Amino acid sequence: MFESLSDRLSGIFDGLTRRGALSDKDVGTALREVRRALIEADVALEVVRQFTEAVREKAVGAEVVKSVTPGQMVVKIVHDELVAMLGEEAEPVSLNAPSPVCIMMVGLQGSGKTTTTGKLSLRLREKQNKKVLMASLDVRRPAAQEQLRQLGEQTGVETLPIVEGQSPVQIANRAMQAAKLGGFDVVMLDTAGRTHIDEPLMAEMAEIRDAADPHEILLVADSLTGQDAVNLAESFNKRVGVTGIVLTRIDGDGRGGAALSMRAVTGKPIKLMGTGEKMDALEDFHPKRIADRILGMGDIVSLVEKASETIDAEQAEAMAKKMQKGLFDLDDLSQQLGQMANMGGMGGLMGMMPGMKKMKQAIDGAGIDDSVFKKQQAIISSMTRHERKNPKVLNASRKKRIAAGSGSSVQQVNQLLKMHRQMADMMKAMSGKKGKGMMGKMAA
Ligand code: GDP
Repeated sequence: MFESLSDRLSGIFDGLTRRGALSDKDVGTALREVRRALIEADVALEVVRQFTEAVREKAVGAEVVKSVTPGQMVVKIVHDELVAMLGEEAEPVSLNAPSPVCIMMVGLQGSGKTTTTGKLSLRLREKQNKKVLMASLDVRRPAAQEQLRQLGEQTGVETLPIVEGQSPVQIANRAMQAAKLGGFDVVMLDTAGRTHIDEPLMAEMAEIRDAADPHEILLVADSLTGQDAVNLAESFNKRVGVTGIVLTRIDGDGRGGAALSMRAVTGKPIKLMGTGEKMDALEDFHPKRIADRILGMGDIVSLVEKASETIDAEQAEAMAKKMQKGLFDLDDLSQQLGQMANMGGMGGLMGMMPGMKKMKQAIDGAGIDDSVFKKQQAIISSMTRHERKNPKVLNASRKKRIAAGSGSSVQQVNQLLKMHRQMADMMKAMSGKKGKGMMGKMAA
């Protein structure tokens, strides 16, 4: 499914990662090529736009860590944004409801609904040891109920006996009743499809939903139909409400656009993917694994991850040692501010260190956001080295000079100094009697 996109992206990044230094222009060119590759892969335009903007923003702000090249950093950023676009964490089908748990399958005719019903039922029984009952609610296509019955025979999963002349809602009610009486854990409702969306179909789905009160409503969509699949998911979601998406025919040679846009456009997780016609060809959808597959640069991604981890840990350790000695000057504050700005204000070095929460709260309480971090760093960098190490020497005229040099007011300089004093006091208090254990841990 993702081969051609994957080839394109590795082509773009191969050159980039080998270079020692990157100009803004290099990054800009690479991003334009990425953008084109995504559009050609049939990813929704709005999603492409959001994606490239997020990557550009992060690439500009990124601090390149030791031992990796700027190009490798860009690969990591693209990878992370791909994962975000695909939904971050895997979201498996949920059975977290009182038995019998009802799972309703919806989608167009031919999308793979019945096949997926069989696959999922089999998996729930074999892997999760569940007693599953399948029922076909398709009374329009004469062979539909028979198709599911045969699938049941083939997989050994029970199906609801066919009763001619019942409406979909009647069958749904009968299935729920039978499941309760028979001690089933899960009821799978395979609904009717059409060749296209129409109002009677939607009304029928809504009626079944109201009758059976399903815990999951899974939309089955053919990934080969690209943006049509995305639009379909949006319509179903608006009218019937879906809890997750199953993308079928991932084994086909589609361009991948549906898989890549589905989550961002609908806001619903892709929970499963169909990877073939056989009954065992069903997999959980793991955003990270798919991103790895698309980018094909897993080595670089883990290299950058490792490098960032060790550097963060080294810095945290050095900082902890300083604090232990009661030393925390404006250079250290500047470093902290930089960290926080880079990490979107959250966590940062402080968040990584136990006991640092309070300090972060003090900063947050002062109403400081990321742009303020940059401003404060500018103030600090307008000081001389001597002033940064000994803030006590900052008298009125020095403050005036620093304010002018950093394009801020004396009041802002004073605010910064006050914050630094509070932080230094807090650290001193923490390295005293009460905090000893904690500081010891931090330095360890
Ligand atoms: P329904 O009308 O939505 O119930 O669709 P079916 O379940 O009858 O599937 C239609 C066809 O698609 C069948 O021939 C299935 O074997 C095939 N199919 C379903 N899922 C997949 C998949 O993930 N990969 C491939 N290659 N074929 C699939």
